[in-house]
Amino acid sequence: MEIKVLKNILGANEQIAVQNHQLLNSKGIFAVNIMSSPGAGKTSLIVETIKALKGRARIGVIEGDVAGSVDAERVDKEQVPVIQINTGGQCHLDANMVRNALENLPLKDIDILFIENVGNLICTADFALGEHKKIVISSVPEGDDKPIKYPMIFHTADAVVINKIDLIPYVKYDLQAFLKGVRALNKSAEIFQVSCTTGWGVEEWACWLLNQKTAGKSPF
Ligand code: MG
Ligand code: ZN
Repeated sequence: MEIKVLKNILGANEQIAVQNHQLLNSKGIFAVNIMSSPGAGKTSLIVETIKALKGRARIGVIEGDVAGSVDAERVDKEQVPVIQINTGGQCHLDANMVRNALENLPLKDIDILFIENVGNLICTADFALGEHKKIVISSVPEGDDKPIKYPMIFHTADAVVINKIDLIPYVKYDLQAFLKGVRALNKSAEIFQVSCTTGWGVEEWACWLLNQKTAGKSPF
């Protein structure tokens, strides 16, 4: 009985996600669901990507957090449209929350929409939001074992961003072990090494994103 209820909830979420996806397509918006554990650098990567793509793409941002608006305030300083969703305890964004956010964004002014999910490597992977690409950020201080411990999110990712790459000399981190762990789960994900502190790798990541948007693969 409980399983049946859970299936119904996921089914409703899938339907709203499809509607979100259609709305985004109709407005020519390329949407990216950004997931990671807390503190891996989702907001930092969004801010650095906004700076990198200035004049090349118009960015909009949906910030998902259990509480507060500190991340939206950081993004707002870059003078792009931003909406903060507070989930009120829920540990992931769902499609209905994103639908409400879309109703409050100037969609005609956005080319690429970043949806920053709640910091969580587990159930964020289970909820479609209507996005075109799923991105997972994993930062060096978290350790190289994250793909082994949280396989589903790495399995479903379109790209994996290794952030805080500048910290490799200072922490115990085996880059090859991490890469091997990702590849065991996902043969096709793009993998980027970046530092939002030094700017290393940000341009390469931003160009890939722009190419994904302009590649014209149906529906993008
Ligand atoms: Mg954040
Ligand atoms: Zn959750």
